[in-house]
Amino acid sequence: MQTREQLYKSALRQIQSNHQRACVIAQKQYEQACAEIPQLPALFGQLNRCKVAVSRCSVFGTPEQLAQQTQQLEAADAELSALLKKHGYHSHSFDPQFSCPLCKDRGEYQGKTCRCVHLLVRQLRRQEISALSALELSRFDTFRLEYYPNQYIAEYGANPRQHMEEIFNYCQKYAEHFTTKNPNLLMTGSAGLGKTHLALAIANTALSRGADVIYISSRNLFDQMEREKFALSSDLRQTVMEAELLILDDLGTEFLTQYGISFLYDIVNTRMLRRLPTIYTTNIVKEEMLRARYTEKTASRLLGSCELLTFFGNDIRLLEH
Ligand SMILES: [Zn+2]
Repeated sequence: MQTREQLYKSALRQIQSNHQRACVIAQKQYEQACAEIPQLPALFGQLNRCKVAVSRCSVFGTPEQLAQQTQQLEAADAELSALLKKHGYHSHSFDPQFSCPLCKDRGEYQGKTCRCVHLLVRQLRRQEISALSALELSRFDTFRLEYYPNQYIAEYGANPRQHMEEIFNYCQKYAEHFTTKNPNLLMTGSAGLGKTHLALAIANTALSRGADVIYISSRNLFDQMEREKFALSSDLRQTVMEAELLILDDLGTEFLTQYGISFLYDIVNTRMLRRLPTIYTTNIVKEEMLRARYTEKTASRLLGSCELLTFFGNDIRLLEH
């Protein structure tokens, strides 16, 4: 997983290499055309000299000189265009084809990072999340409410479908109006009830709104942090602490150590102090089990800082096959 800064650097590198490539291709096409039409360089040279003369005259010349030079420019342009057309080209045939018309693949436009860089960063983050999660980036419109029983079930004290519809609507609003002022969420419920699906659908929508979203499964995060625990600096730690939205999936599946518990406390606490929202999902349904696993201090911090979304119903993974 890359930090936001690393992501921007690689996006910029990619865009600037597009620039190089477009220039090389254009140059090759021009050279090929020159081999076919030997008088081409001379005509382009003439056209450029006329352009320079026109711009010089527009500043220093008399109106008559300007008119004369403009006429010569038009004549040179017409001669070149006619020749190009005869060979199946046009006057822009040798212009580099940049993918971004604003910055011409330089990554900067009007002194700022161009929007194509921001777009690419989002795309790279999406690819990263898809590669890391089992579900790829889900969408709200592929969430199937009809898989949840539509009747009152005494065990839950509610109608699962109605209940899940409320959760679904809440998550959709959460994502569509995403800002870093959003609350933390703790999604709990047995496996296969759609927690990761909704968390990733939120990630997807928040990414489209330009947020820096990180997704990581608890197992991966704790494994990696355990390996890096003696490192002085860690990109992963920085990324997790600074992302505008962190999705920490499947809490409870990690191999837990004392260090892991204090690391979780650190995540919950640091992100709370920085007012950055986090979505946790877990199969641990009972609060006392959370307290027993992560210690009273960490579990209280977690529970106290999150809005609780409890998922219930049937395992939808079984219904999807
Ligand atoms: Zn651009």
